[in-house]
Amino acid sequence: MPSAPTPTANNADLIARSLSAVWHPCTQMKHHERFPLVPVVKGEGVWLIDAEGHRYLDAVSSWWVNLFGHANPRINAALKDQLDQLEHAMLAGFTHEPAIKLSERLAKLTGLGHAFYGSDGASAVEIALKMSFHFWRNAGHTGKKKFVSLEGGYHGETIGALAVTDVAIFRDAYGPLLNNNLRVPFPQGDGTEALAALQRLLAGQAHEIAALIVEPLVQGAAGMRMYPAAYVTRARELCTQHDVHLIADEIMTGFGRTGTMFACEQAGIRPDFICLSKGITGGYLPLSCVLTTDDIYRQFYDDDVTRGFLHSHSYTGSALACRAALATLDIFETDDVIAANRDKALRFNQHIEPIRAHPRVSNFRHLGMIWAFDVASKQPAFAREFFAVALKRGVLLRPIGNTVYFMPPYVITEEEFCGLVEQTLAVIDEVVAA
Ligand SMILES: *Cc1c(COP(=O)(O)O)cnc(C)c1O
Repeated sequence: MPSAPTPTANNADLIARSLSAVWHPCTQMKHHERFPLVPVVKGEGVWLIDAEGHRYLDAVSSWWVNLFGHANPRINAALKDQLDQLEHAMLAGFTHEPAIKLSERLAKLTGLGHAFYGSDGASAVEIALKMSFHFWRNAGHTGKKKFVSLEGGYHGETIGALAVTDVAIFRDAYGPLLNNNLRVPFPQGDGTEALAALQRLLAGQAHEIAALIVEPLVQGAAGMRMYPAAYVTRARELCTQHDVHLIADEIMTGFGRTGTMFACEQAGIRPDFICLSKGITGGYLPLSCVLTTDDIYRQFYDDDVTRGFLHSHSYTGSALACRAALATLDIFETDDVIAANRDKALRFNQHIEPIRAHPRVSNFRHLGMIWAFDVASKQPAFAREFFAVALKRGVLLRPIGNTVYFMPPYVITEEEFCGLVEQTLAVIDEVVAA
């Protein structure tokens, strides 16, 4: 059959076809009647490039996943090499070097020796919740089946993960489907009151609680809400004291985002479970991982199949995805990324001063490679307007409510960061004037 000539991609054509065939995430599709959809045809470092050659600085790392830029030559090379050897094989009954090496290296980095793989953040959370519950059941504590999470916490949007998520826009519509879990206050100020509330809850109800799940140091989806490491340190002590697991959801905070490899390091603690995803593959491929302790692992080790952990995911430990993760870890080591980012952030803090000082900006905050601030505006659809105006200025920013944040790929240069600050100032002025 003669094939039709491939039409050259252009923005309007791709947009029209996408709007008719693709259901986009986290989107009221009707809003695209007014707000732009950007067809990306190429990525290059911090830049995304559309079909007409317009360039957008990806200041949110494509939903917090990208670490070392788009089309990173080193990750590309590793993936091309892996493609010629093995793309994927089932991980039940089989194993392969990328999964083995990655598990070994993550164990060394986290102090948690057993790695279980999924393909996205929400499924990592599901896995951790199931493992915690199943551990207690295997240990004879069948009543421990509730989970405690923080007000404003975000742990993904599958039904189990959504049940420990407290972001109204994602949760409310599906509320009737969700298990009734327990919620404790977000640590305001030094966190003393929130800790007292957590202590009261655990003292009274630990017999029915399997685990506490937290995003250590910063709640991302709630609007980059930062809180003291001391809360996590003390929460760890309380969990240990009351026989409740601590699940650290480091899906966003992991891999250097908060200034250390993992946010838990700043609290000086080891959780019972750590959930990793997003940056794990440098933003290349869907992969997530739950790591846990020898003690928890041993509680499942038995002749009885039903005492084993039962979670079957077809793409568990995809060789390609694991290889992308290994290439990402190589970059951390070779380039001493954590130290380099620390220096970078110090310099960036000077350049961002005009935003901090802007009369419409308040609650400026910074941690590691995250900068966030609130913009005073009466604009009812502030986030969407801001997004659209920023796009016209070649910057991809997606505010959460009135919170604007920068979470750039770590490869962003000083010059690119200065450009980002300059354009953002112009966007603020344009949006608040409107
Ligand atoms: C993004 C995120 C998730 C969910 O990850 P997905 O891959 O989007 O399912 C869970 N927890 C936190 C803290 C996140 O930031």
